[in-house]
Amino acid sequence: MLFLFYNKNYSDYKQKNYTMLFNLLYFDNQGLNFIRVVDMVLVGCLIYWVYRLIKGSTTVKMASGFFIIYLFYLTFKAFKLKLLETILGKFIDIGPIITIVIFQREIRYFLSSMGKGLVFGKGIITKMIPGLARQKVEIDVTPVVKAVQALGGSNTGALIVFTKDVDLRHYEKSGDVINAQVSARLLIAIFNKYSPLHDGAVIIHSNKIVAARCILPVTENPNIAAHFGLRHKAAVGLTEITDTLVVIVSEESGQISIARNGSMENNLSAQEIRSAIKEYLSNDWHAA
Ligand code: ATP
Ligand code: MG
Repeated sequence: MLFLFYNKNYSDYKQKNYTMLFNLLYFDNQGLNFIRVVDMVLVGCLIYWVYRLIKGSTTVKMASGFFIIYLFYLTFKAFKLKLLETILGKFIDIGPIITIVIFQREIRYFLSSMGKGLVFGKGIITKMIPGLARQKVEIDVTPVVKAVQALGGSNTGALIVFTKDVDLRHYEKSGDVINAQVSARLLIAIFNKYSPLHDGAVIIHSNKIVAARCILPVTENPNIAAHFGLRHKAAVGLTEITDTLVVIVSEESGQISIARNGSMENNLSAQEIRSAIKEYLSNDWHAA
């Protein structure tokens, strides 16, 4: 009897608590409630994130084109223009496939940056599982700065990619694997006009020259000045889709530029290059 009484009171208490919590989150079933506000804020963040990802690239134009077609489809549907609605409807039906094909670069970057944000570096999961935290690596930027200065001084073209934890295997495979300690002499030797390794880009990871002669994806950004050729466009192209930093030495002018997040800074001094590389590496590594 006592048990039944206790049990009833306890379940009433539990029920009351649940109802309070439910009311707090869903205080009205039709209008605005806490969960819907959170939902809207998260959708806003998602749209902003996608916008930042595709901003400045030709993908924006394609995305706008796709959106306009969708608006047309909705208009035809509203006015019951059956034939046009059917034709555009077929196009909309294959929308997911078209989206994957058109936005494959952005989707790859989005997923890799999401994984990186959660798992690697200072991500939440890394914090929860101490074993996942990467060991800090000492990086000496001086040999690269020296090499780049010497290459610029002799008008020797060069393309040097710095990566932290982005998987660049696809691009490494397009060239020759080297896996050697970074040194100014080695970089100068690689980019020497008569070296069989001078064409394409060098990839540096954890103080190692991982590969040389690598082919990078060329940007389609129409805002890049016309006097920049494929070397500069390849540097920008890679940084559009990966979290990398690329140093470019121009064969024509000897000027040194840096590409980062899909844009370029040109005609930099040795000090500016050193600071940019150190800043890029500093989040995860000790750069000296
Ligand atoms: P520069 O100022 O040095 O002339 P640029 O931007 O004008 O540079 P190009 O003159 O077209 O570029 O440079 C051609 C060189 O750039 C090639 O010899 C090659 O080494 C490199 N290059 C071209 N395309 C790529 C690519 N997709 N990936 C890596 N390197 C590339
Ligand atoms: Mg050129």
